[in-house]
Formats: sequence, structure tokens, C-alpha cells
Amino acid sequence: MQFLKNFRPELIIESPGRINLIGEHTDYNLGYVLPTAIEKHITFSFQKNGSISDCNFFSKGWDVGFKADLKELSRSSVTWENYVLGVLFEITKRTNKLRGFNCVLESNLPQGSGLSSSAALECGLAFGLNELFALGLSKMDIVKLSQTAEHTYVGTQCGIMDQFASVMSETGHGILLDCRSLSYDLIPLVLAPYKIILLNTGVSHDLATSEYNVRKFECEEGVSIIKQTYPQIHSLREVTPEMLIANKHKMREVVYRRCSFILQENKRVLQMADALKKYDFKAAGNLLYEAHTGISELYEVSCKESDFLVDFSKGYTAVLGARQTGGGFGGCTLHLVHQEAVSQFITEATHEYRKQFGIQLTAFEVSPSKGTSISFVGQ
Ligand code: ADP
Ligand code: MG
Repeated sequence: MQFLKNFRPELIIESPGRINLIGEHTDYNLGYVLPTAIEKHITFSFQKNGSISDCNFFSKGWDVGFKADLKELSRSSVTWENYVLGVLFEITKRTNKLRGFNCVLESNLPQGSGLSSSAALECGLAFGLNELFALGLSKMDIVKLSQTAEHTYVGTQCGIMDQFASVMSETGHGILLDCRSLSYDLIPLVLAPYKIILLNTGVSHDLATSEYNVRKFECEEGVSIIKQTYPQIHSLREVTPEMLIANKHKMREVVYRRCSFILQENKRVLQMADALKKYDFKAAGNLLYEAHTGISELYEVSCKESDFLVDFSKGYTAVLGARQTGGGFGGCTLHLVHQEAVSQFITEATHEYRKQFGIQLTAFEVSPSKGTSISFVGQ
């Protein structure tokens, strides 16, 4: 791309991926989640280019780029461009201060692996443009417009967790977020002698967008049925187990299972926060295992590869718990592993996984990290 020849960054932003300790698919049901940002991130380098509306993008590593005109924004047939275009569109709806710029991005964050590279992409871009053009957007504006961009331009009806975690996280902490009120507590994640290990199944969640939206509709179907008896109900967040059971006979069996999972998962998030505050890692681990069973059997967003790795963990006393993290159908599994057993566990998991599926596992430790931030400002 032409613009790369004279590219001198004025501003560099790092936007992280995230893990979710627990609380899967609860965000769009206005429940609780407990995510944190991780060290792996997308780096954005920005430069104003003096034009009124010409924007140039280049993704290093992917070796692809494209141009956008702020005056003529519309959806693209190329998926990744829509994350970018959606953010530009949402910003231009809120302010007229945006002008032409060049942007190069580079990532060490695996994509389609449940670590929310999509939110890192949206939020890093929005955060950077806010700085570069002094747009006056708050962090919450950035979170919300990035979520809306994913709805309107990409077509995933995602909740708010991923963008919230990518922007608002703080080093060493998890965020216990109430997705109804958007109030949150920072929970110190002091896990020693345990470590959070991620195993990347190498299975990318191609099904995710369509199946994700199906899950959302199934939950809405449940709410609309319960609402007939309890008109005060607006989301699964307000539904008690008694209300759900009282309406079971009116629901498709699959809808009942989806709703049961969400009710149980919300409860588990609060139990997890308590367990972590008390350093009760055994209880925390059990909650991870329970959550995975729900993900696999009730919500049906797991896959045989994730199930295998979670089951494999159960053979190790040094692994207190495990579950698939992220929207589902593959991506990464998260394991709470005693520090002395980490390398043996990884070696054996890698070996068994290759034997079973012929796939090379990638494993890495994560520690709770800060949200989207500036790493360089030029003169
Ligand atoms: P996840 O958010 O779990 O990584 P998604 O399917 O939601 O998975 O988002 C992945 C998509 O985000 C990729 O398919 C791509 O379109 C976009 N994306 C992520 N990182 C980059 C990057 N470095 N360059 C270009 N596009 C990216
Ligand atoms: Mg995503």
C-alpha cells in the first residue's frame, strides 16, 4: 500500500484480548460476568494524513489493507473490514471531528480463539481515534460504540463483556461486571501457587456468529414465555428458578435448557467472586468444571476438542478446574494449574491431544492485565 512508504506513527495504542473466568453467554442476558484483559494484544499505529476523509488501513501479518472514505461508509464483503468500518460509522454518528488518517495494525493475539480479538480490534481503533482527533469520547462511549459496531456491521448480536473487558480491565484484577447496571467490582486475582493456563484447541469457531445469534433468540423466546405469567420480567436476569420451572411445560425443551444454564451460570459467577476473595481455589476450580458441563450439555456451545481437554484435566489433582472460555465452538480452554505441575501438564496434554485429533496444541500462561492504553505519543 502506497501510504506505508512515508508512514511515521504519531500515536501507538495497545488493545488487549481477554479471558472470561466465568459467566459465559450471560452478558446479553443482562447477567454477571468475570473477565480480565490479557497481555496478548493488537498494536495500532496511527498517523493523520491531512485529508478530509481518506482512511488507510494495513494489517501486518495478514498483509492486507484497504481504504475507506468517511463520507461513504458502508458494509464490506470482507469480514475484518467490517469491524473497522463499523467503528468508523459509529464514531461519525457521534461526532464530526474525525478526519483522514493512516493506521497500521499488528497482532500477537490469536483470532477466532475465544480471546476476543474482535473487541481488541474495535476498541483499539476507537480509543486511538479518540486520542488522535480529541473526539471527547469517554471510555464507556468507546465500549458501547464498539459493541454497536459489531451488531450493525459484523452482524454478531454480542453482549457488552468483550469490549468492556478490553477497555476497562486493570492489572492483577478480574472485573465482576453486572451487565444490567454496568456497575462493576475489581476482584484481585491473586492465585498463587496456581496459574491460569490457556490451551488453544486450534479449532476456530466458524459457526460462532450464526449459532451465537440462535442462542440469543432462544433465551429471548424463554423470556417472552415467562413474561406471560410474570409481566415484570424483561430478561433472564430477573427470572428465578421457580419462575422457570413453573413455565417449563410451555417451552421447547431446548429453550428450557438454555434458560437453565443462564440462571445457573449467573449464580456461579457470584460464587466464583466469593471463592476468589477467600482464596478458596478448590471451590473456584469446581465452579470452572461445573460451568463447562453446562456449556457443553445445556447451552451446547462446546466441541469435542474442548470437552477432551477439560476431561483430560480431571485426571490431574494439580489442576483444580477447567472450562472452555469465550463464545464457544472451540477456541481456548482455561485451566487452573498448580505452578509446579504446569510444564508436565502442558507436555502431556499436548501429546494426548495430538494423538487424539492430530492437532498441535498451543499453550500459554496468562496474567490479568490492563485495558486499552497508549504506548507512544509522538511530538
Ligand atoms: P475472537 O473475537 O474470539 O478472536 P471473532 O470471530 O469474534 O473471534 O473475531 C475474529 C475476527 O476479528 C477475525 O476473523 C478478523 O475478521 C478480525 N481480526 C482480529 N484480529 C485481526 C487483525 N490483526 N487483523 C485483521 N483482522 C483481525
Ligand atoms: Mg469476538
